[in-house]
Amino acid sequence: MEVPATLTYSNSTSPGVLTLQFLSAADLLKKRFKRTMLLLLITAASALIPIVHLIVTPLLLVITVVSAFIPAGSSAMVLSGAGSCPACGAAFRVMARRYTQNFSDVCESCHREITVQSSLP
Ligand SMILES: [Zn+2]
Repeated sequence: MEVPATLTYSNSTSPGVLTLQFLSAADLLKKRFKRTMLLLLITAASALIPIVHLIVTPLLLVITVVSAFIPAGSSAMVLSGAGSCPACGAAFRVMARRYTQNFSDVCESCHREITVQSSLP
């Protein structure tokens, strides 16, 4: 899905577009399951280290259990984005990231921090 966005640097703005992907409830659950399995693997690996496992392993086990109950983040991802830099006019690319309405990214050409605001709530 493509969404128009506004790129801002101090007083100048320029139009841009963001390509978004919305994750389904099943995708989010899959992501959460993967994260839990990864943590479990790290916990199991930490049990093999002498002395360290006395503190680290129980701690990781608690973190794993707690994390299993926390839903996996936002349901929308920014896959990519494009526009022209409001500061230098060069082509501006947005790196893949978790979606929020406002975020900032650095221009590859002038290295200034550009604020990206999407029109989507
Ligand atoms: Zn720039």
